[in-house]
Amino acid sequence: MNFELTQSQRGIMTAAREFAIKEFDPQLALELEKKHEFPKALYKKAASLGFVAPYVDEAYGGDGLSILENVLIVEEFCRADSSIGLAIDLAALPCKFLYRYGNHDQKTRYLSKITSGEFGAAIALTEPDHGSDITSMDTIATRKNGSYRLSGTKTFITNGTIADFYTVLCQTDPDAFPKYKGMSILIVDRDMIGKNFQVNELGEKMGIRLTSSAELVFDDLEVPAKNVLGEAGKGFYQAMGFFEESKIEIAAQAVGLAQGAFDMAYQYAKERKQFGKPIACFQAMQHKFVDMYLKIENARNLVYKAAFKFDQGQRDHRAAALAKYYAANIANEVAYDAMQVFGGYGYFQEYKVERYYRDARILSIYEGTAEIQKNIIGTSLFPNLT
Ligand SMILES: Cc1cc2nc3c(=O)[nH]c(=O)nc-3n(C[C@H](O)[C@H](O)[C@H](O)COP(=O)(O)OP(=O)(O)OC[C@H]3O[C@@H](n4cnc5c(N)ncnc54)[C@H](O)[C@@H]3O)c2cc1C
Repeated sequence: MNFELTQSQRGIMTAAREFAIKEFDPQLALELEKKHEFPKALYKKAASLGFVAPYVDEAYGGDGLSILENVLIVEEFCRADSSIGLAIDLAALPCKFLYRYGNHDQKTRYLSKITSGEFGAAIALTEPDHGSDITSMDTIATRKNGSYRLSGTKTFITNGTIADFYTVLCQTDPDAFPKYKGMSILIVDRDMIGKNFQVNELGEKMGIRLTSSAELVFDDLEVPAKNVLGEAGKGFYQAMGFFEESKIEIAAQAVGLAQGAFDMAYQYAKERKQFGKPIACFQAMQHKFVDMYLKIENARNLVYKAAFKFDQGQRDHRAAALAKYYAANIANEVAYDAMQVFGGYGYFQEYKVERYYRDARILSIYEGTAEIQKNIIGTSLFPNLT
């Protein structure tokens, strides 16, 4: 057993950290947040340096890095700035669907445009009446001659208004039993937006405001049959397989965000004086830092372990769910405590810790809520009783 990263992994981490510290200007993040704008220029710049979807094979424009190496990059990005880091990562994350399940033609069409930063993508699973439970879909695609006719509504879709393509989970066989055996994923291109496909930005939200959150409405949209991801009827299984990996990446977002909040509070506690000395001198403050440090350390170990296992070809649902559940949870707790260290100042946008606090909240909701992760862990502990 070896707890050390390799020299090459440390190099990747350092390069990501240096890039993010230099480029992720907190003032820019605030401005973009007010405008609800995606950091397109930074996304492209990060991509030009190989930081976007680096796990994609070289044949499709990536560097073929491991999932653990990708985790290191995501962590550093979200540490340097939660809003910019999350926005950049979320624009590329959906491409895992194509990377894992796409055929050669589909990979050729989309993946190199993700790794070059030209394209952003969206995952469209959630519907108004299907969130945690995606075992059946109200969005239906009916096969007619050489294409599908797609109708239904998706909601809460990250990057909805800016994505260049959408991976849409839908029911292609409404008579299948159980229903999830009759689902497929269709790739819908941005240029299909028009009268049969509408994208509507949803209202103001608490955090991750550099991302768009949208409703997608399909009304008898014609989608060519060649846009079925991999094989028809496999959509639900593809979504479950996608989550195995994407969950680890979300957990890495959480570790980075928590570490970034810790860093800010740590610096502030050494500088801010009350009662004639830095607040870091007070033991109650130090205990707070010990608790934060321990939580981050535990979360990081869970995330690296889940990533390591994934890279070894082990599909460990419990390891991924533990990492996602715990890291998201502690990111919220650490951001709360880090803000507390700042006292009243932390409540104002000038100190970016409040943004970390707001950005943290989504981590326990998307990509499977905290409760759903606990269900997965619970079922794995009592396999024959649930
Ligand atoms: C900002 C944001 C971005 C998002 N991005 C995307 C995206 O890009 N693509 C996409 O497809 N979706 C996206 N989502 C949707 C997200 O994945 C869902 O919101 C989430 O899965 C929960 O679904 P729901 O909101 O319908 O809540 P529900 O499923 O209705 O759950 C409500 C509550 O009940 C709990 N609950 C439900 N079932 C159980 C159970 N069996 N046991 C215990 N508790 C349970 C949940 O944990 C939750 O607390 C996004 C959501 C948000 C807010």
